[in-house]
Amino acid sequence: MVIAAGTFQTPKIPPFSRKVPQDIHQIHSSEYRNPEILPAGAVLVVGSGQSGSQIAQELNESGRQVYLCTGSAGRIPRRYRGKDGMWWAIKLGIVDQPVEELDSPEERFEANPQISGKDGGQDINLHQFARDGIRLLGHLEDFEDGQAVLAADLYENLAVGDEQAKTFRQGVDKYVEKAGLKVPEESVTEPQDGYDQAEGTRLDLKKAGINTILWATGFDWDFSWVDLPILDEFDYPIQHRGVTEYPGLYFLGLHYLHTLKSGLFLGVGEDAEYIAQHIVRHTSVVH
Ligand SMILES: Cc1cc2nc3c(=O)[nH]c(=O)nc-3n(C[C@H](O)[C@H](O)[C@H](O)COP(=O)(O)OP(=O)(O)OC[C@H]3O[C@@H](n4cnc5c(N)ncnc54)[C@H](O)[C@@H]3O)c2cc1C
Repeated sequence: MVIAAGTFQTPKIPPFSRKVPQDIHQIHSSEYRNPEILPAGAVLVVGSGQSGSQIAQELNESGRQVYLCTGSAGRIPRRYRGKDGMWWAIKLGIVDQPVEELDSPEERFEANPQISGKDGGQDINLHQFARDGIRLLGHLEDFEDGQAVLAADLYENLAVGDEQAKTFRQGVDKYVEKAGLKVPEESVTEPQDGYDQAEGTRLDLKKAGINTILWATGFDWDFSWVDLPILDEFDYPIQHRGVTEYPGLYFLGLHYLHTLKSGLFLGVGEDAEYIAQHIVRHTSVVH
């Protein structure tokens, strides 16, 4: 039995969403289609991963006032030195790093870096968002008396993205030099506008004209229906390269099943081949 039920199965919305005033519309990113489906007025987008960032950008371009609660998602450049960011990520081996080499098991569930495929591919840069009129905020922590309670961590969140993009480019530069690749030089000066925004810890929803809260807070998984003690402390299946300790039971397509690319179209083929070979080796055929 190969369980290929996906990782990101159900919308994940924090429990304090119940404290949002009744007259404010709430929607998860999985239900979002375009700006027109939202009530008129400003929108508070919660989460700055790929979904939240791209939705915030689209809403801003449609003329909405957007407030964006940022998180700790990093950022990589869409293109650098003449090649696509994913091309470099593959060359640098980032997508091949085995799960065992991560600093902690929690790291499996960190948000993917901000990057966009829109219009043939482009950077997502929160500083550019600030320049374009999006109001950046820290983590959303709670609601009290019609006010959003925010962590004073906007600059910290911005620094995560800045640092990751810088480290990524440095990694590419080193790789180019070592491999002797003939690619163009590129000098990058990024905007820093996000640091000009105030790190407030309260946002009055009414005063800000917010009529919608869009939860781009990711997805959860539920494997509780597998009636075996097979889940770790994160309720995530315990397996090695898809092979469980229960003969004949496998997983495939999980985020970080084996490497980062296991949860991408890029890596599922390799994992499937590994499992298929394991099945062949461990199955006795009765004629
Ligand atoms: C927002 C988002 C953006 C993404 N962007 C990219 C991208 O740009 N590039 C990329 O390579 N990957 C991307 N991915 C990852 C990619 O979508 C997954 O790697 C891929 O869909 C996994 O395929 P799968 O068949 O394993 O699982 P899924 O596509 O999730 O399919 C699982 C299926 O199993 C069904 N199922 C669940 N439980 C049961 C059950 N108990 N019984 C029967 N059926 C069940 C589900 O209904 C579903 O139909 C993205 C994922 C998300 C959430």
